[in-house]
Amino acid sequence: MAFKIALIPGDGIGKEVMAEGKKVVDVVSEKFNFEISWNEYDFGAERYLKEGKTLTEDDLKELSKNKSIYFSAIGDPRVKPGILEKGVLLAMRFYFDEYINLRPIKFFEGVREVLANKTAKDINFYAVRENTEDFYVGIGSNEAKKRSKDEFEILRTLYSVKFNLDIESDRDEIAYQIGILSKKGCERIIRYAFELAKRKNYDLVTSVDKANVLNFYAVWRKAFDEISKEYIKDGIKSEYLYVDAAAMFFVLKPERFKVLAIPNMFGDILTDLGAGICGGLGTAASGNINPNGISMFEPIHGSAPDIAGKGIANPVGQILAGAMMLDELKKSDAANMIIKAVEDVLREGKVRTPDLGGNAKTMDVGNEIVRKIKEM
Ligand code: ATP
Repeated sequence: MAFKIALIPGDGIGKEVMAEGKKVVDVVSEKFNFEISWNEYDFGAERYLKEGKTLTEDDLKELSKNKSIYFSAIGDPRVKPGILEKGVLLAMRFYFDEYINLRPIKFFEGVREVLANKTAKDINFYAVRENTEDFYVGIGSNEAKKRSKDEFEILRTLYSVKFNLDIESDRDEIAYQIGILSKKGCERIIRYAFELAKRKNYDLVTSVDKANVLNFYAVWRKAFDEISKEYIKDGIKSEYLYVDAAAMFFVLKPERFKVLAIPNMFGDILTDLGAGICGGLGTAASGNINPNGISMFEPIHGSAPDIAGKGIANPVGQILAGAMMLDELKKSDAANMIIKAVEDVLREGKVRTPDLGGNAKTMDVGNEIVRKIKEM
């Protein structure tokens, strides 16, 4: 039976790197004898500019017919920032309840070293970021007056919650933001982090929060406490770090990390720091995962209008997103072969795009990775 995969090349360099990503997934599927049936969709800036729509209910229903979504990048200087991010990316994330943002933090030999004396074996861990709660639920205002009433309603798969706020202040210019964490929301992401550690043979899960200052992280800690106990029998240890200390260790001692479980906002920041210590945007991939639903895999970079159309974008992030997708589809051997081919090509350093100091084209890198895979 073929895996139905939604293909969303998007805008700018998205289309260019996606061509390589698809090529690589196709070649491993042939090698490992499974079939991928691609359904391509034109969601992104072009369609928005032509038809004025982002993702409609019908689009989302259509996407539901697929097993996974292979996404590239959306964005265009002609579209106001936020419209496509909210209307396409966040729409998918919430509709499919992709509550896990999985980010491998992996440094590849051959990429310019950012941290002195830290090699590929020192920087190789997973950040598991919660993707739906925390300060990113959209409850806040930057124009609360001396006396005002604000109402917010949050509808999630796990729960709905209403806030009716009476605001009284002796000043006019008050701004506020409210974060939400639910016990269930914390439990499911923390459990995924421990299951990932088990699956990847890692023996440590680190919880990151700021429970000493922000009270609501107590519920995160409680969930982490409870769940970590279940995994002692599997030889998985656990620890807590405050986010500030975690940030310092990303730079000074990344080798201490195996799997990190991180609430949404701190996860947003730390995962980009993670990409930074690995040499930047070009080689990083991410998964927006619902283990029981439809997950979406993408490179972490955007549409990069400054280099779009030149054929020089680095396709490695897109290609590694394809590997993550196959891993989630339980085709781990195929996924590992892609990672191995990427490692080899980057280490050899003969075929690299300009962001990594080479002069190869996007397509050359894709072809070289395909060639390696065929040789394996
Ligand atoms: P968007 O608005 O879609 O997020 P952006 O240009 O603001 O696009 P990114 O695309 O994430 O943001 O990247 C910022 C810069 O990094 C780009 O302008 C580009 O120069 C560089 N860059 C990003 N991705 C790649 C890539 N895959 N290969 C080479 N350079 C890249």
